Amino acid sequence: MVKVSKKLHIAISVFLIAALISLCGCDSKPKGEQVLTFSAMDTMVTLKVTGDDSYDVITAINDFVVDYDFNVISRHSESSEISKINKEHKCPETSQLYAPLMKLLSVYQVSLGAYDFTLGNLSDLWGFGTGNEKIPEKEEIDKILASSGAGTLAYTNGDVTFAEGVEIDLGSAGKGMALDKIKEEYLQGSKTQRAVISLGGSILLYGEGEFTVGIADPENSAGSMAKLKVNECCVSTSGNYERYFEKDGVRYHHILDPKTGYPSDSDLVSVTVVSKDGTLSDALSTACFVLGSEDGQLLLQSYECEGVFILKDGTVIVTDGLRGKLEITNNKYELKADYES
Ligand code: ADP
Ligand code: MG
Repeated sequence: MVKVSKKLHIAISVFLIAALISLCGCDSKPKGEQVLTFSAMDTMVTLKVTGDDSYDVITAINDFVVDYDFNVISRHSESSEISKINKEHKCPETSQLYAPLMKLLSVYQVSLGAYDFTLGNLSDLWGFGTGNEKIPEKEEIDKILASSGAGTLAYTNGDVTFAEGVEIDLGSAGKGMALDKIKEEYLQGSKTQRAVISLGGSILLYGEGEFTVGIADPENSAGSMAKLKVNECCVSTSGNYERYFEKDGVRYHHILDPKTGYPSDSDLVSVTVVSKDGTLSDALSTACFVLGSEDGQLLLQSYECEGVFILKDGTVIVTDGLRGKLEITNNKYELKADYES
């Protein structure tokens, strides 16, 4: 018979009690998958985290999203970093927004200006998201276009400065920027096994193995038109159905063509971009939407990103890296013949 010393016996009992407490779930912090849904960044946020420290991680991400929105990227919050930058017409090299803005400037350049994050005054003129949407006079549009644009950005003693008429607007990239920070600061280095961080149109899929994401049906964005299989990455979708108003049977949506100042009118109704980098997936989806399916595919090649393009006529194009990964589930849509796996 094995003899157990009194000391060891006490130690085993303490261990068993501890194990029982955690088995009973009597531990004050629940483990396993945690799910949280709330409203922030002008959209619905859903967080799903699985791992031993999932409760702490999801709580920290929740706090981060609210703080990053209010104190960093929202130009409608007076105390935010972006409001300060817009007021001073300058982004110092020390700002946490400096590096992301440099990345967005590259997208502006590579997209030949189809992507332009400096048109906040133009979005305001149209009134998207304010409840006071209107078709502006052409003279008003032209006046704003003449005094803004990322082409006015200049380097002064290491800082980035820009023209008086510029209002930097992170509506097209802020959610992706947040995803990059969430991955670096809250998921990597934690005990998280898998996480799905959904900030409206931009989603981070974190962890090993495959994930399946639904692609919104542009005609009924509450439903999906396809399932896409991906590994760890960020996925962003831009579409003409997210924010718009209609006048005399014409839809005016929120993605503007910087060349005309009017809602972009390419061959697309929606673009989904897949990238390791959230800032890029978010910015490139907006850029591709303006460029259209042909130039959009070239832009994605430059950044080694993948994408799904839904055309106005219901045909769907996927880039090479996603061939065989997309299953269309709504028969209104059809994969373009050359793009079948
Ligand atoms: P969502 O905000 O619905 O996720 P997007 O990521 O495509 O969609 O961003 C659209 C937002 O980007 C607009 O609401 C506006 O704030 C801004 N925007 C509009 N047109 C452009 C453009 N050509 N380049 C960069 N940003 C744009
Ligand atoms: Mg975007």
